[in-house]
Amino acid sequence: MRTKIVAGNWKMNLDVAASKKLAMDISDDIQNLKTNNTRIIIAPTAINLYPVFHQPNMDSRIEIAAQNMHQAKNGAFTGEISAEMICSVGITNIILGHSERRTYFNETDAGLAEKVTTALENNMNVIFCFGEVLADRKNEKHFKVVESQLENALFHLKDNDWKHLVLAYEPVWAIGTGETATPEQAQEMHAFIRKVIAKKFGENVAQQVSILYGGSVNPGNAKEIFAKPDVDGGLIGGAALDSVNFVALIKAIQ
Ligand code: PEP
Repeated sequence: MRTKIVAGNWKMNLDVAASKKLAMDISDDIQNLKTNNTRIIIAPTAINLYPVFHQPNMDSRIEIAAQNMHQAKNGAFTGEISAEMICSVGITNIILGHSERRTYFNETDAGLAEKVTTALENNMNVIFCFGEVLADRKNEKHFKVVESQLENALFHLKDNDWKHLVLAYEPVWAIGTGETATPEQAQEMHAFIRKVIAKKFGENVAQQVSILYGGSVNPGNAKEIFAKPDVDGGLIGGAALDSVNFVALIKAIQ
């Protein structure tokens, strides 16, 4: 059975006090919730990773992820953080390839391929994001675009690496826009992604990798999206900044 995941990307929101409070609120709200086979991940901004992670009494089911890292081991890269630095505070989950990183910071598939390699060399677990822009979908190029993002960033991996990988399909036109892919559109793309992975890495790898949907998921639409057979959870932006909404999403996948 594939692992289900509800992951919250907090982006550049919340100071240290607000980050700690949101994490503790989520922790308190899941106390009586059974979360079989579900990973719960939150991704505060870099400076808040340590204080959030090291709060006493936080529910041990809550995992922390960083939102980005540099591919180099260390060096003259002002403002960047390395995989080793993230791991040194006890955090081993990393989100890579988010569309905001691609759009605003010029991240490319080739650069992301290097980041994925570095993360895996440091025994990190990667949530790898990708997805088409609106023009691609309008021009019916969305399958081609997604296939090439996967090929260019992940096809250098070995079968064994996939145990440490989660895919997050995030159509760019649905991120932070309030516009969601329909459950059918999400399912169609997730099934296609699994086919692409199967063709290169075999059916076993394709069947075990969790594929998350991201793009304006909220408590009103989550249940229907999560019910689709190839959707294994969600990467959540806006709705992850409110503990009630985020916990509702965790409940929606049970
Ligand atoms: C995201 O940032 O990955 C995301 C899906 O955002 P939102 O849920 O706000 O669309």
